[in-house]
Amino acid sequence: MTALVHQRCHHHPAREAAARCPECARHFCRECVVEHEDRVLCAACLRKRSVVTTAKRHWLRPLLRAGAAAGGFLLLWLLFHLGGQLLLAIPSTFHEGTLWQQPWLDEP
Ligand SMILES: [Zn+2]
Ligand SMILES: [Zn+2]
Repeated sequence: MTALVHQRCHHHPAREAAARCPECARHFCRECVVEHEDRVLCAACLRKRSVVTTAKRHWLRPLLRAGAAAGGFLLLWLLFHLGGQLLLAIPSTFHEGTLWQQPWLDEP
């Protein structure tokens, strides 16, 4: 590995390099690099990266969010529907507390 001290900035030949961009492997001074998601990138690579991510976010993100919302709503509706069916399936005598009065135990 070459010592960083002996490297010069890609944009400013007079300045010493402070960091190396992991994307393009060029050396840059402190002013020419930007920290992005815990990585030090040069301005050119950052621009390239942000263009890609915004293009991806543009149509895919809302679609995924809408899909998740629709799926969640459907699941909630299904649960409510099943709960309603269950309540309807239970005889009304159960709610009235008179189930024990019926002679279903005495039948032969
Ligand atoms: Zn770069
Ligand atoms: Zn520079």
